Amino acid sequence: MDTLDVDLGQRSYPIHIGTGLLSRPELLTSIGRRPMRLVTDAHVAEHYLTPVRELLSLDDEQILVLPAGETTKSMATVDQVMDWLLASRLPRDGMLVALGGGVIGDLVGFCAAIYQRGVDFVQIPTTLLAQVDSSVGGKTGVNHARGKNMIGAFHQPRLVLADTGTLATLPQREKLAGIAEVIKYGMLGDAAFFAWLERNMSALLALDDEAVRYAVYRSCEMKAEIVALDERESVDGGAGPRALLNLGHTFAHAVETYTHYTEWLHGEAVAVGLCMAADLSARLGWLAGRDADRCIALVASTGLPTRPPQGMRVDDFRTLMSLDKKVASGKLRLILLRSLGDAVVSADFDSQALDATLRHFG
Ligand code: NAD
Ligand code: ZN
Repeated sequence: MDTLDVDLGQRSYPIHIGTGLLSRPELLTSIGRRPMRLVTDAHVAEHYLTPVRELLSLDDEQILVLPAGETTKSMATVDQVMDWLLASRLPRDGMLVALGGGVIGDLVGFCAAIYQRGVDFVQIPTTLLAQVDSSVGGKTGVNHARGKNMIGAFHQPRLVLADTGTLATLPQREKLAGIAEVIKYGMLGDAAFFAWLERNMSALLALDDEAVRYAVYRSCEMKAEIVALDERESVDGGAGPRALLNLGHTFAHAVETYTHYTEWLHGEAVAVGLCMAADLSARLGWLAGRDADRCIALVASTGLPTRPPQGMRVDDFRTLMSLDKKVASGKLRLILLRSLGDAVVSADFDSQALDATLRHFG
């Protein structure tokens, strides 16, 4: 097992990463014994509720099982959770536990942020995406009919327990979606990690314990470093370190909007976005052409898509990207690579190069 600390100055919290963590109650001693409520979804409950119920010594009244899926991340569910917490009288010094993927983590984190003006919570992420991304960093929230993640709060967990053994039951597409975010970390901040991914991708895809542990560890470490520098994505008016985590995401959001957030998983759209960001960075003369090729080849080697959905055209990208929230004062802001492992936020790039990338992919 590895442990790393997310250091936020006055506060810090540990992330434990490894297999078999769901049967190690001693990892929870730092949070003390207190009243707990656990929220999970039906898929996750089927596989992991029994060990976690035992780990936390919970009885049925302390557990809420919600339907699986993105629609659960809504204000209607928040209302349901609030009603359940109030009815069961969780006190202010109580603790919420999120057992599941990013949907449950974001929802429960938000509920913890607002229940009686804030209670502590623990993340037990069970998807690769949640282990490398959503469970770390304190962004919580739900969707609104007018936009995804439009209602939320920053609320850091007290502890993250990432049992990489839980990934064994993850559907293949969900696993690959998480791998897209792992590749993102290599591209944006660590060329050596990128090269490690090139060498170890087959072990990672086969869920080799050691490979998964290292990939999750290094990803969390990079996210933790970035979050420590820019906890609320407020540095430089949102163009600071935390924005780098959006590498590929402006293209990805266009793909997700085009496919109505249904056909494509977020990570699949990110995979295409990473390829497009690499292509554009090379066209600008920043990233070496051979390194852009390496990025696209690594994505392709996983089986993730490297091109947008059939039928999506240059004009679709133009329209949808200008709606993206990363448009700062009328200028499109993108995360681009100066070199492999070195991302920058830029609103000052040659728009003809962007057009060329869009034509190449659209
Ligand atoms: P998810 O939570 O919907 O999980 C994907 C599917 O896998 C679900 O059906 C779930 O029930 C199932 N599942 C989860 N763990 C499993 C396991 N171990 N075995 C079998 N099935 C399992 O999706 P996700 O990809 O984990 O998270 C996506 C959400 O995360 C989105 O809402 C996104 O906005 C959010 N997100 C948040 C942040 C953040 O910083 N807060 C970052 C990235 C993404
Ligand atoms: Zn993402």
